[in-house]
Amino acid sequence: MTATVSLEDRAVRLYDDIRHCQRCPLWRTRTLAVPGEGPLNAEVLFIGEAPGVNEDKQGRPFVGQAGQFLSELLAAAGLTRDDVYICNVLKCRPPGNRDPLPTEIEQCRDYLDEQIDIVDPLVIVTLGRFSMARYFPQQTISRIHGSVKQIDGRYYVPMYHPAAALHQQSLRNTILDDFRGLPGVIARARSQRSADEHVALGAITAASPGLEPDESPVQRLEAGQIRLFD
Ligand code: URA
Repeated sequence: MTATVSLEDRAVRLYDDIRHCQRCPLWRTRTLAVPGEGPLNAEVLFIGEAPGVNEDKQGRPFVGQAGQFLSELLAAAGLTRDDVYICNVLKCRPPGNRDPLPTEIEQCRDYLDEQIDIVDPLVIVTLGRFSMARYFPQQTISRIHGSVKQIDGRYYVPMYHPAAALHQQSLRNTILDDFRGLPGVIARARSQRSADEHVALGAITAASPGLEPDESPVQRLEAGQIRLFD
């Protein structure tokens, strides 16, 4: 018999691994690792770049100036920090806030994969170019920010990093506009997921004589087709 491990137990184990991680040399210079935070059933998961000086001190993501702006951006989308899951590509601060190295990103990759698997969000929002590169390789943020890509029933939205607007005032309204589009993406992702679940249920009921699916989710989906960035 296989024992089922709860999402909470998986998260506790993962955060503990991250806090004790020595996979790359960043453990030598960090104060605290920053696993990430938020409800494990969040519909939206944000991926930033790496902890900065404040995050490194507190062990929490986006608690400095960029984090304050992120809270404003979330409010523009009708969300609060308690509604969403927030994490980073790297869990430890690169000294002097330098860019993450490819080897560091690779060594940290499993942690982010596991977080996404646990939370199973409807929408993933990438903040800045390093998280964007996971899903939109060869793209530039100035070209695709705010667009939507759907892969296997999940929606991906690349956004500028909030810190970019702190350095470049002209980006402020652009990021705000992109965030204002999020409620629509979340609504589309919800109906897509429930349509997918109906299809799966239909397959089960078809295989179980006596049970009838109440309607055709495929028809509903076709009626509400949406055009997505690809
Ligand atoms: N910038 C990031 O990308 N992540 C943080 O947690 C803080 C600032």
